[in-house]
Amino acid sequence: MIEIENVRKSFGPLEVLKGIDLTVEKGEVLTVIGGSGSGKSTLLTCINGLEPIDTGRILVDGTHVHAKSTDINKLRCKIGIVFQQFNAFPHLTVLENVTLAPRKVKKMGRAEAEEIAIKQLNHVGLGEKRDVYPSRLSGGQQQRMAIARALAMSPDYMLFDEVTSALDPQLVGEVLDTLKMLADDGMTMILVTHEMSFARDVSDRVAFFHKGVMAEIGPPEQIFGDPQNEETRQFLSNVR
Ligand code: ADP
Ligand code: MG
Repeated sequence: MIEIENVRKSFGPLEVLKGIDLTVEKGEVLTVIGGSGSGKSTLLTCINGLEPIDTGRILVDGTHVHAKSTDINKLRCKIGIVFQQFNAFPHLTVLENVTLAPRKVKKMGRAEAEEIAIKQLNHVGLGEKRDVYPSRLSGGQQQRMAIARALAMSPDYMLFDEVTSALDPQLVGEVLDTLKMLADDGMTMILVTHEMSFARDVSDRVAFFHKGVMAEIGPPEQIFGDPQNEETRQFLSNVR
């Protein structure tokens, strides 16, 4: 599980996480919502150690993410992350993009890496695209490739940061379907999204972030149906 304890994080004078406490259980789907600049992306990059924190601690399966003694590369193998903008390697095929990290980071042999990659590409519906270059994929297909690439590392946790925000509206559904499938498979995930009806449908809990504070957390029925916090209420009345 992921345990976040009193985490504070500043960029210069700007405190963007103001004492976050949050536990995500194995198998849980947690959605993080909130306005622009509320600290959602920073939270995700702190969880996988891309960003240092100022105080508090983050534990993933009991391992301190930010401790000096932690093998951060090993820990990152456990935590897949997919961003809004996926930068595929344009000179590598889809299959080569997906096998790259298992081969380089996990030192896997080609045959084994390809077997895993093909399984994951099939899983996200891209099995037939394995030999094309990323530029030939639609935005939705590129995001599904990014998901397959992360899954090829066999992560225990997946973090998704607005993975549909840059997509044309007609391509959003196919990526959300892929996330839903992962959730149904029991993947532990934290996803930042503005797709509120999707969040309502897929989440075990929803956390609302406001100016670096987790202002409210609860089941989707509470957050979307009966928010307890005034800021949550205002945010949701503006996005709908
Ligand atoms: P969100 O994802 O909720 O929109 P972010 O976590 O990206 O918010 O950003 C929170 C705040 O931190 C914003 O004010 C943003 O400008 C600032 N910020 C994020 N990353 C950096 C950085 N690397 N350097 C300086 N400021 C940053
Ligand atoms: Mg963000």
